[in-house]
Amino acid sequence: MLVVGGGNAGCTAAIAAARLGARVRLVERYGFLGGTATAAMVGPWMTYHAGSADEAGRVTGGLAQEFVDRLVEMGGSPGHLPDASDYVPTITPFDPEMHKWLLMAMCEEAGVQLLLHATLLDVLLDGTRLTGVRVQTVSGPRTMMASRVIDCTADALVSHAAGVPCEQGNADGRVQPMTMMFRLSHVDLDVTAAWLRDHPDQIRTSLDPVQFSATTLTAVAGLWDLWRAARAAGEVDIPREIVSFFRGAHPDEVSVNMTRVTGLDPLDADDLTRAEVEGRRQTMALLSFFRTRVPGFAQCRLAATPAQIGVRESRRIVGEYQLTSDDLLQARRFPDAVARSGYPIDIHSPTGEGTRTTRLPKGMTYEIPYRCLVPLRVDGLLVAGRCISVSHEALASTRLTPTIMTLGQAAATAAVQSLAARVEPRAVATDALRASLITQGVDLRRPEPACA
Ligand SMILES: Cc1cc2nc3c(=O)[nH]c(=O)nc-3n(C[C@H](O)[C@H](O)[C@H](O)COP(=O)(O)OP(=O)(O)OC[C@H]3O[C@@H](n4cnc5c(N)ncnc54)[C@H](O)[C@@H]3O)c2cc1C
Repeated sequence: MLVVGGGNAGCTAAIAAARLGARVRLVERYGFLGGTATAAMVGPWMTYHAGSADEAGRVTGGLAQEFVDRLVEMGGSPGHLPDASDYVPTITPFDPEMHKWLLMAMCEEAGVQLLLHATLLDVLLDGTRLTGVRVQTVSGPRTMMASRVIDCTADALVSHAAGVPCEQGNADGRVQPMTMMFRLSHVDLDVTAAWLRDHPDQIRTSLDPVQFSATTLTAVAGLWDLWRAARAAGEVDIPREIVSFFRGAHPDEVSVNMTRVTGLDPLDADDLTRAEVEGRRQTMALLSFFRTRVPGFAQCRLAATPAQIGVRESRRIVGEYQLTSDDLLQARRFPDAVARSGYPIDIHSPTGEGTRTTRLPKGMTYEIPYRCLVPLRVDGLLVAGRCISVSHEALASTRLTPTIMTLGQAAATAAVQSLAARVEPRAVATDALRASLITQGVDLRRPEPACA
């Protein structure tokens, strides 16, 4: 079995398949694993919960939870923390450097055969059946044959090359903006918290201002007056309406999610180049903003910038089922559900300022059917991660990391079962698939009734 793309979906898929006994190869273009979570330093993960931050509200288990448990053991994550910005029940900060190693270690433990610095070139087909891929490596092109391929490239690169119908963006073809995240260290969050206690109207939170501290302020969203003043003075030129940062894996470090690059196509080489340059220009302007205007940040340092800008949205496959915003908002149930989430539909404007959040009824979760992982037209292939079969609106929720990890585990389990049963992935018996996922700890409970 071959997994293409070593992000969180791909690693989860490779580890899960290997643990189930498959001989698995994982191909990744970078020299490390983790994809958007490490190469683009995107975090914190959100959210493992819906409705409440306790066991009753947990929606994600399996390998996705195992990653967190192991990171906590390694000192690479404080675990699930209540979200001070009141957006979701919990957020899960992690150290991208530790996560890079954890994924490699877990792949090795499971017996996954890694091929790094290997970039997909094209695919091999026998009629409509995918039989392998060709990759470019440091030692030249290499052909890799496989009985099953799982496309975890986030851009549906394997699927597109194999002739699977694909879509991109909203009705106008526009995608959500790209964002270069960065980390600031040497931050004194006690000072920030003290200032916020005096300016409680400058933060979105349900915490009582007397509770504000470096520990409780896990996420900060607001600081509107400081931001407006910087913009009015011409210090920053970024189409973002709010200051937004998260506590990092370490107490003096924050992860900033504020740059915004709109109107460019992440699958166009020239656009992507422009986006990287613009992301760095905005990063430097924000560093100056934080140092000069935000209490607690006067001595901060630019601890890390990512290897690549974060891409929220690109190409998606069209599969046996396409999940829609209605499915999410109605908390629709599916007999072949393989993952669930309560994360809102969170659309950063594709054209400029503004972020539109549409929430499910409180505490409700939606389900993702297995058919969203099964592409039309091509056999021998499954898809996991960002590029599964969903609408532009649904992607604005399904793209979140705990969900895409679960999708990796689901695709792997289905691939293994399809080989054992000698059927194509689209013919997998989904009752057995769900049963295996539940045995592996994936949380497929249905505690609340679906909406009427
Ligand atoms: C700015 C931003 C903010 C976000 N905020 C959050 C958040 O707060 N919380 C959260 O949980 N999620 C968030 N997300 C979403 C989440 O990070 C991603 O959707 C998720 O990580 C995607 O995982 P993936 O495995 O599908 O793709 P990726 O992690 O992108 O993995 C794809 C892998 O494929 C590899 N690859 C690509 N092309 C090739 C090729 N040609 N050959 C070989 N390998 C290839 C890549 O190098 C990469 O390793 C955010 C995303 C962005 C961009």
